[in-house]
Amino acid sequence: MDCIFCKIIAGEIPAKKIYEDENVLSFLDISPVNYGHALVIPKKHYPDLLSADEATLTELILAIKKIAPALIDSASASSFNLNLNNGEVAGQVVNHLHFHIIPRFADDGLKLWPGGSCDDERLEQLVERVKQLLD
Ligand code: AMP
Ligand code: ZN
Repeated sequence: MDCIFCKIIAGEIPAKKIYEDENVLSFLDISPVNYGHALVIPKKHYPDLLSADEATLTELILAIKKIAPALIDSASASSFNLNLNNGEVAGQVVNHLHFHIIPRFADDGLKLWPGGSCDDERLEQLVERVKQLLD
């Protein structure tokens, strides 16, 4: 398979691994947003969040809960952002499900999404449509 993260799992290309268990691997991002930026991935290949099964997602989140405090402590960070880019337009480049743990430092200058505004009627339509689909 031509997946760079599957190759890391298989040991075919190197990575700075920080955590591994039966189903989950975590390693430092090669192009870190901040010091300690890490990725957490399932060992089984899923292209994105929506294609993964519930057990895998549960294991990923529980691994993140373990890894994040150790990473934050080791990097002397104050807190972290947990990010997942789902789909190309959202910025997903590697099509193997992965969460980003991004340590945050006071005054690190990272900017998250700017707040915006939206017409209330459009929002009400959206709420109704989503609720219908989820019913
Ligand atoms: P995304 O844009 O959410 O798909 O994120 C993919 C991430 O994978 C980026 O932050 C890349 O820097 C990172 N990345 C790509 N190749 C490698 C690699 N060989 N080892 C570690 N991280 C990588
Ligand atoms: Zn893969």
